[in-house]
Amino acid sequence: MSALLRTAAVLAISTVLASAQNGRTADLILRHGAVYTMDAARSWVQSVAVSNGRIIYAGPDAGAAGLAGPSTKIINLGGRMVLPGFHDSHVHLMEGGVGMSLCNLKDVATPQEVLAEIRKYAAAHPSQPWVTGAGWDLPVFPGGIPRKEQLDEAVSDRPAYMESADGHSGWANSKALALAGITKDTPDPAGGRIERDPDSKQPTGTLRESARELVTSKIPPATASENASGLKRAVEFANSLGIVSVQEADASDEILNAYWALDTQGQLAVKAVAALRTDPRKGDDQVAGLIERRAKFSGKRLRATAAKIFADGVIETGTAALLEPYLNRGDSRGELNFEPERLANFVTRLDREGFQVHIHAIGDRAIRVSLDAHAAAQKANGRRDARHHIAHLELIEPEDIPRFRDLGVIANFQPLWAFADPYVRDLTLGPLGPQRSRWIYPIASVLKTGAMMAAGSDWPVTSLNPIPAIQVAVTRRGPTELEGPAWIPDEKIDLAEVLAAYTINGAYLNHEEKETGSIETGKAADLIVLDRDLFKVLPEKIHEAKVVLTLLEGKEVFRAPGF
Ligand SMILES: [Zn+2]
Repeated sequence: MSALLRTAAVLAISTVLASAQNGRTADLILRHGAVYTMDAARSWVQSVAVSNGRIIYAGPDAGAAGLAGPSTKIINLGGRMVLPGFHDSHVHLMEGGVGMSLCNLKDVATPQEVLAEIRKYAAAHPSQPWVTGAGWDLPVFPGGIPRKEQLDEAVSDRPAYMESADGHSGWANSKALALAGITKDTPDPAGGRIERDPDSKQPTGTLRESARELVTSKIPPATASENASGLKRAVEFANSLGIVSVQEADASDEILNAYWALDTQGQLAVKAVAALRTDPRKGDDQVAGLIERRAKFSGKRLRATAAKIFADGVIETGTAALLEPYLNRGDSRGELNFEPERLANFVTRLDREGFQVHIHAIGDRAIRVSLDAHAAAQKANGRRDARHHIAHLELIEPEDIPRFRDLGVIANFQPLWAFADPYVRDLTLGPLGPQRSRWIYPIASVLKTGAMMAAGSDWPVTSLNPIPAIQVAVTRRGPTELEGPAWIPDEKIDLAEVLAAYTINGAYLNHEEKETGSIETGKAADLIVLDRDLFKVLPEKIHEAKVVLTLLEGKEVFRAPGF
């Protein structure tokens, strides 16, 4: 070896040693764990070491020992499970967080109990000009139609308005209807329905889809600081459930401003891609505004790089767009918010401008025209690395199932919905009939084609907690149903598949798979510790598992009491 080369070699070695001392000493080592890394080989390891917010080691315990320095914090996991942090690919965090301080009607089972909650809330907030809340379940009221008279009983001195759990229906009292000017002569607005008494034609108090805006436009909006603190509360809640990254599913300017406020203050403890709200009534003329927002709301953890389109409504109220008529609504096949050609043109334009398109599609017709729109965009613009996705996917016509893989469109399911809950049992199976009902949430069939699945909660529509949803994907039974037949058992998927949907695939959906979503050297230390190994418990017991520690870029954003 020449002197020159020798010198170079010595220099190289000393550089390595220096970095071993400076960079390779871990700030934190998690050891003696069951670490499911979610790398390409789905490897298991025992230890993870973190330095400066990044994973510097994932492997056997022995290899981690040499990374410990005098100030390294060491956590003995005692066999607990470590996973990459969860990615929720469809969630409304700010709405959920603001809603946490309003009247909460979630999981309240009877009309009497709903009214009792409202009365209690109204009494506790005597100076609020409106009594507002959310979370009532459609099956609690006959036909999913609560009455204004019922709400008048609970709140007679002020206007009151309660949004349904799914966010597609509203319930107003007489004072609120009067303020909104809704009478028996008010026509249904485009894309909405005012439920009416069959005889008198008087409004019942229930408003569907865009008809809600007649009332909600009269409610004094939350202030920017209420929105930001609502979002902060929601992010803390999300962290406590192991969520480190989201796609905000319908970002209005209020929502963007709340994210921006937290992000610029270094307080946004979640990675977020915002899907910018679009208006089906406006056409391409809104695209310039979307481009402006995308540029403006590009922060440290926030990127506004997606656009949200509602293709249809929901099956329970007959507003989802079906290929064949509902069995309980005459000839109605529900409604598309966009004529197919307009949707194709809009998606093509958004795709050309580099947006990721996030479509809400529930009925088989809405799903078909959404896939058609993606096909049209690819034909016009060529195929790019867009990672477009369609969320909800309640009823898919079998012929359309292979098209997710063919078009490279990600199937964004809400796995918690994939069992025969009262929404399905009482309000969906009848209107669809048995043949079509076989194709409700056909998750396994979509995966079998080789398509990619992502997963989300749609909170506050349903629980933010990924763990019960993971169980439902695996069992196709309710999260607390220990036994009984699985609902469409052919559509069960493996635990490994649903965990991928909630981690690496969610990261991929947000174009962040090189940064997060698996436990691999070089990636951000976005990881969680669970109190038990999900692979070692009975599938119907998965829901009992709890997150005990959440790290976002190596920083503890949640630790369960006692851990
Ligand atoms: Zn949603």
